[in-house]
Amino acid sequence: MFPRRVFVAGHRGMVGGAILRKLQERGIGTITRGRDALDLQDQAAVRAFMQAERPDAVIIAAAKVGGIHANNTYPAQFIYENLMIECNLIHQAFEAGVQNLLFLGSSCIYPRAVTQPMEEHALLTGVLEPTNEPYAIAKIAGIKMCESYNRQYGTDYRSVMPSNLYGEGDNFHVANSHVLPALLRRFHEAVETGIQEIVVWGTGTPRREFLHVDDMAEASLFVMDLSKDVYEANTEPMLSHINVGYGDDVSIAELAQLVAKVTGYKGRISFDPSKPDGTPQKLMDVRRLASMGWRAKISLSQGIESTYRWFLKNRDNFREA
Ligand code: GDP
Repeated sequence: MFPRRVFVAGHRGMVGGAILRKLQERGIGTITRGRDALDLQDQAAVRAFMQAERPDAVIIAAAKVGGIHANNTYPAQFIYENLMIECNLIHQAFEAGVQNLLFLGSSCIYPRAVTQPMEEHALLTGVLEPTNEPYAIAKIAGIKMCESYNRQYGTDYRSVMPSNLYGEGDNFHVANSHVLPALLRRFHEAVETGIQEIVVWGTGTPRREFLHVDDMAEASLFVMDLSKDVYEANTEPMLSHINVGYGDDVSIAELAQLVAKVTGYKGRISFDPSKPDGTPQKLMDVRRLASMGWRAKISLSQGIESTYRWFLKNRDNFREA
């Protein structure tokens, strides 16, 4: 049975927002706090909040996130803020007697040169991609915290690792966003202003798997809803995370073509190899979750179209952080 009062940390972010909507659709009680009301990096504040609220379950969708440029430019913030958020939430949830917790990570936890698609077993088998190593280390620490608390204290803390997420509520910052929203905005603005050449960062050859945030929210609730027996039968105590992906990837050049089609851009697309490519490929092996009965539903072209509609509607007030 699903917990009654769920604290969604990071509900103003893209994933947290989607999870909150799904919980509310199902009539599940939720607790949220904005950044102004609760600083998740402040240990004493998180402790006081958890002790006062004592939620039945916690979902950690709060994180410092960003695209390749942001990860490369603010490495100290990516490692510090993510470690602090995880340490405070996981430990203080435990101290407040919270038995159920879901930790959201990222596909960048896997080594750069790993066999594709990436299985859960690939964790900690090799060297990480340098552009996002600080973020990846923090996310690996989060998984290992959940496992350690489960082993020592018998809690039921689970982890899900999504591939690149996109959708409603995304961040469209020119420099700091992920590739999909960055291209949607750049192509849209080119059409609006009549620009006939668009420069896409890198060589265009890296491959990425994109998962719509509504699929991710569904998968998160699906994993939380699994009985402890089923979760434990399908994972291992020291390899407990579950990949969530669409199951297919595209090259950045193919992504640019898709975005051009959706936005109606007809000009030239060129590439700037002086910008970093990042990992050559990131495609999740999703067999673990599929074997338990879950699969993504939203295709990339459908997802780009609905994200573009959202972008057009919210153009004047979307997040720029
Ligand atoms: P990553 O998946 O962690 O590497 O992060 P991103 O979502 O930032 O995707 C990065 C890939 O898209 C790299 O190969 C970039 O070179 C490429 N890319 C192309 N144009 C852009 C852009 O405008 N913004 C971003 N963030 N990446 C871009």
